Amino acid sequence: MINENFLKLSGAYLFSEIAQKVKAYKAEAPRADIISLGIGDVTQPLCPAVIEALHKATDEMAIATSFRGYGPERGYDFLREAIVANDFRARGIDIDADEVFVSDGAKSDTGNFQELLSKDVRIAVTDPVYPVYVDSNVMAGREIVYLPCTAENDFVPQLPKEHVDVIYLCYPNNPTGTTLTRNQLKVWVDYALQNNALIFYDAAYEAYIQSENVPHSIYEILGAKRCAVEFHSYSKTAGFTGIRCGYTVVPKALLPAPPVGRRAANQLLSKDEEVLPPTGGVREGLLNALWNRRQSTKFNGTSYLSQRAAEAIYTPEGKEQVKATIAYYMKNARLMREALTDMGFNVYGGVDAPYLWVRTPNDMKSWEFFDWMLRSAHVVCTPGVGFGSAGEGYVRLTAFGTYENTKEALRRINDKL
Ligand SMILES: *Cc1c(COP(=O)(O)O)cnc(C)c1O
Repeated sequence: MINENFLKLSGAYLFSEIAQKVKAYKAEAPRADIISLGIGDVTQPLCPAVIEALHKATDEMAIATSFRGYGPERGYDFLREAIVANDFRARGIDIDADEVFVSDGAKSDTGNFQELLSKDVRIAVTDPVYPVYVDSNVMAGREIVYLPCTAENDFVPQLPKEHVDVIYLCYPNNPTGTTLTRNQLKVWVDYALQNNALIFYDAAYEAYIQSENVPHSIYEILGAKRCAVEFHSYSKTAGFTGIRCGYTVVPKALLPAPPVGRRAANQLLSKDEEVLPPTGGVREGLLNALWNRRQSTKFNGTSYLSQRAAEAIYTPEGKEQVKATIAYYMKNARLMREALTDMGFNVYGGVDAPYLWVRTPNDMKSWEFFDWMLRSAHVVCTPGVGFGSAGEGYVRLTAFGTYENTKEALRRINDKL
C-alpha cells in the first residue's frame, strides 16, 4: 500500500513543463537565441569571503587534529552565535542561540516542520504560493485553505473567515515579489495570538528588502515570539543554492502546542528546560524540543564546510560582498520594472524582492502569454497560474539573469509588442 495522499498532488511540476515547452520550441526554431527571465536560481558566483572560508575549512578537514565529523545537532555555536548577533540582536530582537536550528536550507524545513502537528490542523496559504507549503501538507493528508492575493487586494491576504491553525506567510514573497509592511504583518500576528494559531514565516528573501517600513523578521512584531516560527536561507542571500545552508528559529515562548500529556511533554523537554506546570498551562519550549527531537532523529546536520561558509557572510568583507551581489540583481529588477511599466504593463513587486509579477495584457491566460513571450520575443517567463489559481493572468519574471541579458530581453519584448 502506498500513501495515497501522494496521488492528490497536482500533476506536472511547473518547471519541468516549462523546460519541455522550451525544448519543443528549440526543436522548431533551432536558431532562436532564448533568454530566460524565468530562472528561480541565482547566477552570480559565491563571494570571495565565502570562497576563502571554504578553502580554509577544507584544509582543516585534511588534518586529524582539526578534522570534523558529525556536528552538534542544532548547528555549530560559531554560526548560531553569528546569526543571533547579526540577524537579530543588531535589529533589537532578542533570540537565544538555543532557538536557532541550522539547516541545509529553507525548503527542507518549511516542508518538514508540519510533521510536528496533528493531521487534523487546518492550514492556510496565500495563493499564489511557493509549492512546498502546499505539497508537504497534501502528502500528510491535510486540507488547505487558500487566501487569494491579487492586484484587487493589493496582494495583501485577508484574514481567513473560518478558523485556521497554521498560516504560511512568505515575505518578501515568492512569486509575487510583494511585501507586507510592519502594520500589515501585525494584523497576522494579532490574529495568530487571538486564535491560538501558528505562523510559519518564510524570510528567504529578507536580504533584498530596501524599504524602511518592511520588516526583516516577523520577530520585529510584538508578540511574534509566542506564535511564529521563522525560516531563513542563505540561498538567495548569498548564492548558497548549491552549497546548502539555512536556519530555522523556533522560539521557546511559542504558545500553541499539540495537546499532549504532561508526562509525554516533560519527557521530550530536556532536563535543563522548563518543566510544565502540574495542570494545563503554558507548554513553554515544547515546539523547540519537538523540533530538536525531529531533527536529531531524521537529519544529521549541515556540513561543516557550509556552516563555515555561512559564517563568512557575517564578516565585514562578507557583508559588503553579499550586499554588492544583491545590488546587482536589484539593478536588474529596477530596469525591468521601469521598462515594463513604460511599455504599459501593470507590474508588481521588484522593489524589495528579485521577482516581478506582471499582469498579462488583454486578459491573456498565463500560459498564452508565456507562449507569446517564448515565440515572439524568445524570452522565458514563469506562468503565474503555476503557483495557484489566483496567479492566473500573471507571469513571474526574475532579476537573477545577467544585466546584459535582462536588457536584451526587455528590448525584444518592447520590439514585439
Ligand atoms: C528559494 C526559496 C527558499 C530557499 O530554499 P533553500 O532550500 O534554502 O535553497 C525558501 N523559500 C522560498 C519561498 C524560496 O523561493
